Amino acid sequence: MPNIKTNGRVIVITGPMFSGKTSTLIHHLEREQYAENKIAVFKPRIDNRYSAMEIVTHAGQKLSAIVVPTGEEAYGIIMKGAKNVGVVGIEEAQFFSKDANIPKLIMELSKGRRVIVTVLNKDHTGEVFGNAGEILAKADEIECLTAICRKCRSDGASFTQRVDDKGTPIFGEQVHVGGKEDYEPRCRDCFVFPEGKL
Ligand SMILES: [Zn+2]
Repeated sequence: MPNIKTNGRVIVITGPMFSGKTSTLIHHLEREQYAENKIAVFKPRIDNRYSAMEIVTHAGQKLSAIVVPTGEEAYGIIMKGAKNVGVVGIEEAQFFSKDANIPKLIMELSKGRRVIVTVLNKDHTGEVFGNAGEILAKADEIECLTAICRKCRSDGASFTQRVDDKGTPIFGEQVHVGGKEDYEPRCRDCFVFPEGKL
């Protein structure tokens, strides 16, 4: 019989792209599965390419992530979906709009649940991404991950650079879906800030 209630706790996993945030979330969820805790995972719908997502743990169990809209309706959908579980995972929390009020949702969910959230640490200009700052402020524990810098190969990259197909940094809207650009992790020395910003 799976456990419904757990002691409340908020873990936020943050870092640049390619730092292993999802793998770390899966690691946490696997530990919960061994304890037979009931889990629900939510993911923002940022485009129409993916209608669903499945997380397969090393233990071989499949976890379906519930894909939810990024607007204010997300709050109610996640609360409802988390009703009978003791552990809630939220992927890529930076993509939810301010109306979704994820920081408040985390507080509400953490009453009797463990909440594990992944969030991008900075946007492609080096600034805070959406609600990420407030989300981090709700954490009991922050796991701050880094990647390997794509440019100089040093460890400890904490920035995410948006680049064109030649690797030249490009800047624009915070969320840009369906564009041709790519992203790469970069260290502080290799990261290029937009002009006029440090
Ligand atoms: Zn570097």
